[in-house]
Amino acid sequence: MTGGTLIVGASQAGLQLAVSLRQLGDTEPITLVGEEQFPPYQRPPLSKEFLAGKADLESLAFRAPSYYADNGIDLVSGERVTDVALSPGGRPGAGVATTAGGRALAFDRLALTVGAGPRRLSAPGADLDGICYLRDREDALDLRVRLDAASKVVVVGGGFIGLEAAAVARSLGKDVTVMEAAQRLLSRAVAPVVSEFYRQAHRRRGTTVQLSAAVTGFDGADGKVTAVRLADGSALPADLVLVGVGVVPRTELAERMGLVCDGGIVVDERARTSNPHVTAAGDCTVQPHPLTGVGRVRLESVQNAVAQATAAAAALLGRPARAAAVPWFWSFQGDLKLQIAGLSTGYDEHVVRGEPDSERFSVLYYRQGRLLAIDAVNSPADYMAVRKALTDGATVPAATAGDTSVPLKTLLAAPRRDAVPSS
Ligand SMILES: Cc1cc2nc3c(=O)[nH]c(=O)nc-3n(C[C@H](O)[C@H](O)[C@H](O)COP(=O)(O)OP(=O)(O)OC[C@H]3O[C@@H](n4cnc5c(N)ncnc54)[C@H](O)[C@@H]3O)c2cc1C
Repeated sequence: MTGGTLIVGASQAGLQLAVSLRQLGDTEPITLVGEEQFPPYQRPPLSKEFLAGKADLESLAFRAPSYYADNGIDLVSGERVTDVALSPGGRPGAGVATTAGGRALAFDRLALTVGAGPRRLSAPGADLDGICYLRDREDALDLRVRLDAASKVVVVGGGFIGLEAAAVARSLGKDVTVMEAAQRLLSRAVAPVVSEFYRQAHRRRGTTVQLSAAVTGFDGADGKVTAVRLADGSALPADLVLVGVGVVPRTELAERMGLVCDGGIVVDERARTSNPHVTAAGDCTVQPHPLTGVGRVRLESVQNAVAQATAAAAALLGRPARAAAVPWFWSFQGDLKLQIAGLSTGYDEHVVRGEPDSERFSVLYYRQGRLLAIDAVNSPADYMAVRKALTDGATVPAATAGDTSVPLKTLLAAPRRDAVPSS
């Protein structure tokens, strides 16, 4: 390859970056290199439809195989980039990348979309057979096969992926226990009322949820896991363990390049790294808070990967930036459909709209009276109303937000001046 753009990491953000470059009229070569063996595919169904046997792997591909050649995108699969050298004194941002397979990829522009990997446990017994993680296609295929044969499933970690997988395992009739080290589920993402709702909803469906349950190790026989050990000395029998305790951003390449990293590759609102000629997007980055600009956040979502990759493409081509997008996210745990718009980080007030026990309710978050976010459970109209409010810079007064006799969209109040568009 000579010149053009090199995108390292061929997944949600990397593919979007290539697509956006072409949409912006870039006609230079694009190389999209990824260490996985497969063309870019969607990850969200791995813990939902695919695990439940309702989707096959082929249906997860983002694009038809012909898309890449048709659009002049050289997709290099199964190659890990191990080193990047920027040309000193050459065109800013140009250089050569080398891969584990010995390829040299020259580029004029560089983007890192290297994502994140699962945080792994190092407790005694953590390498026993039957202890699984869920990040990619191969993990998901392995988990699905094992799930068929398993009877006692323990999920370590009560975050989104753990709870989604627990819901699938339970729907398949397995004996399922979720162990969460914190005092509540989803503690980093939602208010206590939402955490408590999920604890009860999963229990109603027959899943055991243990809170404040710190896993200290695993027992095994013949190399296979047989039980999960807890800090209180107890042991819970298990023939399949799924660990979902968060992810670690893949900063190794950026660090070797001398780019500033701090819990992710540090980028600005235009997805430019500490070397402004190099961009980064998606789960591997930390960025200024997209709504307030105050402090940095790391967002692990499809919406963020798409929005940041779009911004990165514009930055690489020297095009004007679009304004920041309103973040949104979803997590489908069986029939419980959670939709989140905005970011609730730093909220000082929240309003519950509807009755959690009805399994259809929303929570609106505020800071100093300003609407920040909504968590909507089986309430798509509330979600849409708040997403629109945040996009238009409108608000829903906290005093009236809880009144379920009135549709939320009719409660929208005057626009602020610092409105942000959606993407
Ligand atoms: C099971 C699961 C369920 C999810 N569900 C949801 C959901 O419901 N809603 C939602 O919004 N988000 C969800 N997500 C999160 C969403 O999938 C991620 O935010 C998104 O995939 C991020 O895209 P990315 O391109 O930044 O990173 P990734 O998807 O992690 O891709 C990075 C790619 O880069 C490759 N790579 C890394 N280093 C190198 C290298 N040196 N050389 C070559 N290639 C490299 C990796 O192998 C990987 O393929 C889910 C994720 C998982 C795993």
